[in-house]
Amino acid sequence: MSATIIDGRVAASALRERVRERVEELVAQTGTPPGLATVMVGTDPASDVYVSGKQRASREVGIAGFDHRLAEDAPAEEVADLLERLNGDERVSGILLQLPVPDHLDGAALTEIIDPAKDVDGLTPLSAGLLALGRDGLRPCTPRGVMHLLEGEGVELEGAQAVVVGRSNLFGKPMAQLLLGANATVTTCHSRTRDLAAVCARADVLIAAVGVPRLVRADWVKPGAVVIDVGINRLPEGLVGDVDFEAVREVAAAITPVPGGVGPMTIACLLENTVIAARAQRTGTTPHPAGRL
Ligand code: NAP
Repeated sequence: MSATIIDGRVAASALRERVRERVEELVAQTGTPPGLATVMVGTDPASDVYVSGKQRASREVGIAGFDHRLAEDAPAEEVADLLERLNGDERVSGILLQLPVPDHLDGAALTEIIDPAKDVDGLTPLSAGLLALGRDGLRPCTPRGVMHLLEGEGVELEGAQAVVVGRSNLFGKPMAQLLLGANATVTTCHSRTRDLAAVCARADVLIAAVGVPRLVRADWVKPGAVVIDVGINRLPEGLVGDVDFEAVREVAAAITPVPGGVGPMTIACLLENTVIAARAQRTGTTPHPAGRL
């Protein structure tokens, strides 16, 4: 069997187009576009690429961008003041603090300052709590992107065995909760999981977010499974995922490539969250909707 390749670039482009249409509607209704504020502390080149990409993508769909850059040695008070100011700025619908922040700062404590109504990264404790309770809220972008890909492929999650390898707050935990919300039977694995290969081999849907190049091998994958590779590992030969793509594609029914799979969905979902946040703020309806565009 040779797996269907799930094309994240095509799915992301379709989602961005839907976002662009919703932005136009919001401008027609209220006269102003949604706004996305990014806050980056320091000059880390990888973060610079991510933030610039997010701002560029925002502009392309008509979202107003507010790109804030602070010095590497910016004190915590300066970052906190800026976040407070953005919380109160009506032009700003969503706020994103680019992580990681320099070592002298506490990224989690600073993230907590963000108004949950503007938490387009879905990483504040309130957003995490709403997700854990199965209530409406802004969801972290990468797990939401994976849900879009699964839905786009028509993957039946109800009653399926879903295995998530990785338990980070950024991805693994929210991913498991979204799958649970879709009525999958969910197992979350991590570095202490015994016999990881055997657990993975039970999965109808296997999602890897570990940061170990090609960790998931073909004999870990149940024939016909759907395999989602979230990993991004920079090797001399280029970007590779956490899945041994060439071998696993011969076993799986469908698989995401790296690059061009999950990655493009993350920014598209950030734009989607910005519109969801703007709409909620302007209509005064559900304050933290997980609604679809
Ligand atoms: P993280 O915070 O470093 O978490 C990694 C997780 O993998 C941890 O839960 C860790 O277990 C587990 N782990 C590590 N080695 C393992 C092993 N040998 N066997 C089983 N589990 C193991 O990373 P993250 O932020 O979740 O990101 C994971 C990967 O996804 C990275 O490559 C990252 O670049 C990528 N990523 C991509 C996107 C995207 O947009 N495509 C977004 C986010 C992340 P413990 O908890 O026990 O330490």
